[in-house]
Amino acid sequence: MHLKKPQEVLLLGPGPSPVHPRVLEAMGQHTLGHLDPDFFQIMDQTNNLLRLVFETKNRITFPVSATGSAGMEAALVNILEPGDKAVIGVNGVFGQRMVDVASRCGAEVIEVDAEWGRPIDPELLEKTLSAQSKVKLVGVVHAETSTGVQQPLEPVVDVVRKFDALLLVDAVTSLGGLPVAVDRRDLDIVYSGNQKCLGAPPGLAPITFGERALEKFQERKSKVQSWYLDLSFLTRYWGEERFYHHTAPINMIYALFEALSMIKEEGLEDRFARHSLHSKALIAGLKALGVNTVVSEQHRLPSLNAVWIPEGIDDAQLRSSLRRDHLIEIGGGLGPFKGKVWRIGLMGNGSRRENVERLLKALSEILNNLGHKCSGEEALSEAGKIYQ
Ligand SMILES: *Cc1c(COP(=O)(O)O)cnc(C)c1O
Repeated sequence: MHLKKPQEVLLLGPGPSPVHPRVLEAMGQHTLGHLDPDFFQIMDQTNNLLRLVFETKNRITFPVSATGSAGMEAALVNILEPGDKAVIGVNGVFGQRMVDVASRCGAEVIEVDAEWGRPIDPELLEKTLSAQSKVKLVGVVHAETSTGVQQPLEPVVDVVRKFDALLLVDAVTSLGGLPVAVDRRDLDIVYSGNQKCLGAPPGLAPITFGERALEKFQERKSKVQSWYLDLSFLTRYWGEERFYHHTAPINMIYALFEALSMIKEEGLEDRFARHSLHSKALIAGLKALGVNTVVSEQHRLPSLNAVWIPEGIDDAQLRSSLRRDHLIEIGGGLGPFKGKVWRIGLMGNGSRRENVERLLKALSEILNNLGHKCSGEEALSEAGKIYQ
């Protein structure tokens, strides 16, 4: 029996995002050996492309062989030893996940909380850091995919630099869609995932470590508790030595290489502008349908648009009709947003005018069927004004 060909569902949820055929084709190429000289060349080129997208010169920049969460785990297990202190910003699911992973490292975790839909307050962060001694790491989520909030990074960096702590940034839903700018912003460790704004299928977690982070890593007294994610092994394979550690997911790396090449060809600035434009058009169209955003304009993410489900509309009913009758996927809310919020991703290859328009048309049709009266034509016209 052969795999039944999957339907072409338009992925406008919180990830994975639509993968361009060029990336899928690269992924289907002949599998080389993981110690093959031609593959080594592809590894080096992939890391160079990652430096370009992260906007960094960091020598330790490579994709971890697992999904985005493994980037989070790789950052935390390599830095945190039992008894270390970590301060983590929590304003959604992914900050909460960071807390969980950091505490599994044996660290003492201090949370800085913000309401869902709001960014972390740098003043509160500063107060928290002042009240503690010897905090080793501060973690924040740049693009909180569970709420659609963009964390302003500069004020966080300004605070963290007053203390001798490393800054870890989750850029899973921002890298390739909005500026992460690792060197310009002076971020110490940043990780991402293939399947959001980078536009590759899930399976790799690009990560970068700056010199300050590597120094802290060198000062460790205990062994890294994870054999698989131990940075000293990973850098020996990804570096010049090519020391065998685990078999790299060869074809996934082909896909990432191709997706990154497409980003380079488009240009970072144009790509960021594209993400911003289509998000604005979507929001204008949704507003005309009576669907409003969760996050204030100032802190809105272009890659993930969180919107309130209109009064009286059943979340599951709408999303299943969207999937079944229109072949479109959007995301539901998590935690306190469950049943109340939709999460609409316009990431990577998904961030296009035809997708915005197709979604607005489909939504207006279903909303009207479910008793929420609205005009699809008006929504398209409002979105169209943004494109003028
Ligand atoms: C998706 C996501 C992750 C986790 O990535 P996986 O690939 O699902 O493991 C982590 N952080 C954020 C902000 C995400 O959006």
